[in-house]
Amino acid sequence: MKILVLNSGSSSLKYKVIDIISEYVLAEGLCERIGLDGRIIYKVESKNIKENIEVELPTHKEAIELVLEKIQNIDNGVIKSIEEINAIGHRVAHGGEYFDDSVVVNDDVLQKIRELSELAPLHNPANVLGIEICKELMPDKTNVAVFDTAFHQSMPDYSYMYALPIEDYEELKVRKYGFHGTSHKYVSNIANEYLNKENSKIIVCHLGNGSSITSVKNGQSIDTSMGFTPLQGLMMGTRCGDIDPASVLYIMDKRNLTSNEMNTRMNKESGILGVFGDSSDCRDLQEEMNKGNKRARLAFDMLIFKIKKYIGAYAASLGGVDAICFTGGIGENSSVVRERVCKDLEFMGVKLNIQKNSERQDGIVELSSEESKVKVFKIPTNEELVIARDTYRLV
Ligand code: ADP
Repeated sequence: MKILVLNSGSSSLKYKVIDIISEYVLAEGLCERIGLDGRIIYKVESKNIKENIEVELPTHKEAIELVLEKIQNIDNGVIKSIEEINAIGHRVAHGGEYFDDSVVVNDDVLQKIRELSELAPLHNPANVLGIEICKELMPDKTNVAVFDTAFHQSMPDYSYMYALPIEDYEELKVRKYGFHGTSHKYVSNIANEYLNKENSKIIVCHLGNGSSITSVKNGQSIDTSMGFTPLQGLMMGTRCGDIDPASVLYIMDKRNLTSNEMNTRMNKESGILGVFGDSSDCRDLQEEMNKGNKRARLAFDMLIFKIKKYIGAYAASLGGVDAICFTGGIGENSSVVRERVCKDLEFMGVKLNIQKNSERQDGIVELSSEESKVKVFKIPTNEELVIARDTYRLV
């Protein structure tokens, strides 16, 4: 049984072909610059194939056609014919309040995803397009939608509500939705298996270009740092995270910015990039900080401080914590970030094994010392695998 996993962005398309029995990735790749000049990066590990082809990709349709062509027998593909693909799993950004789990796509589901474009104007339209093209090119295959927001639908009302006039929720649906749900679900499930205890309390730190932290009680998301949009919460690569909403109005007023311009400022020009100035990449930040760059030091200190505050707040709201998990590009790879975050958390039972934390080791690693009351794990996330598993479960 083989599942095609698609993640359609506004100008990109990531894909993986996964054998769901062995959970082996047969092929994977990325189409970039769709609508511009176009490029596909295509990889088949078992055959040691890696191609990087410049090719015109005017729309997502040509991109998906190219992916289907590449994964078939022609060009040493991994399957003989498209018939071998049993179903397609789509990552969908926003499921609003409609979806608390993945679903098989029918006309009604597609219409709801379309409707939710109001809440995710950059992502949902691209996701709808991906599904529509698959329906057109492979009409007999089942499409499954896996939502980035679904895992967080378990948040209680007092957690997801903003203290705005209630009609902003009732009429406009303004509330906390949370994102990175597939990652938080996957990582917290693994931690749960390790803990093997009832009513487990887990904090998952997904730290990448986009970052969020979730508190998970007994497998259910209780609170998460991203909000109505992915802008809320931690300081990220280019997003500002939590700020006083009144400062937004003040800056718009003083700099004479439109809401679109302010949106770009907060989403694309802030965060690490905004404070450090040279790059949004955590590796560059750490390198410059080690050379004594003051702005790099400030940005790094801010990053760590905000992560720590969320961990403290979530531990309090959970009434304790059994495990803290690190995932995402930074969480999985930056031992410095993990060490700095865990430093001074001994008061709540966290004791990191510094030696183990600094060693490079692939896969899931327990990083806490034996006497630590709270386990600390590094757990590589695998959102595509969750999408493939959910697709398999539903077909
Ligand atoms: P995305 O949110 O786009 O999926 P990733 O999860 O891949 O991003 O994370 C990208 C981030 O991970 C970048 O800021 C990158 O610098 C950081 N990163 C990757 N490897 C390391 C490392 N060894 N040390 C510090 N940061 C790292």
